[in-house]
Amino acid sequence: MSTLDAASAARLRAAHPLLQRLFEAAAARTPIVILESQRGRAAQEEAFRKGNSKAHFGDSAHNWSPSVALDVAPKPLNWNDRKAFIALSVIVFEEARRLEIPIRWGGDWNMNGVLTDEKLSDLPHYELHRWRDFAKRDCVLYGETPKVKPPTAPTPAETHYPVLRRGSKGTDVIELQRQLKAAGIDPGGIDGSYGDKTFAAVRELQRRRGLERDGVAGPATRAALADLL
Ligand SMILES: [Zn+2]
Repeated sequence: MSTLDAASAARLRAAHPLLQRLFEAAAARTPIVILESQRGRAAQEEAFRKGNSKAHFGDSAHNWSPSVALDVAPKPLNWNDRKAFIALSVIVFEEARRLEIPIRWGGDWNMNGVLTDEKLSDLPHYELHRWRDFAKRDCVLYGETPKVKPPTAPTPAETHYPVLRRGSKGTDVIELQRQLKAAGIDPGGIDGSYGDKTFAAVRELQRRRGLERDGVAGPATRAALADLL
């Protein structure tokens, strides 16, 4: 049962699908508020002026759409309750490990497990690691128009699922990998990159379902996978 209020849920929806999944899982375990996801140019420069951020617009993981960072606090929010922020991070890291989502936390930027050696401790901040890779692949700068895909004339069966193959990247691949994992076939991590392990997982699915084992996730393969879920 999610504990998110409406404003938090709206901010979460503006985040990368992997962050959405992670913090939905965290919210199911403990009450949280989502303080910020996407931050536009004016707000970023304002945060820089005030010293709340060291980054100009474009250099923060919050400046991308969907955002590759989230600021999250325990509920009820009490900025002085450092212990509560740290307790939340323990839950977030447990869920991140379970869901195989790579993250970095602002309470431990250098990821050495020590919380007292950070120059700028940012306890509410969580980002995909490495966020620039995710931003480059899956996002546009906040305020920019999303890249428009060239118009195609899909067959009815392709309307719901784009054909994915070795070398495919992005959120569609993440969804495919999540479905494979849910069906009990290990795609080798949920990283949005259709590499050898995902290729092998699709071939295994095709073997089980009596399909041609070409390792391409086309309409018939995707339908067979949906059947298993
Ligand atoms: Zn942040």
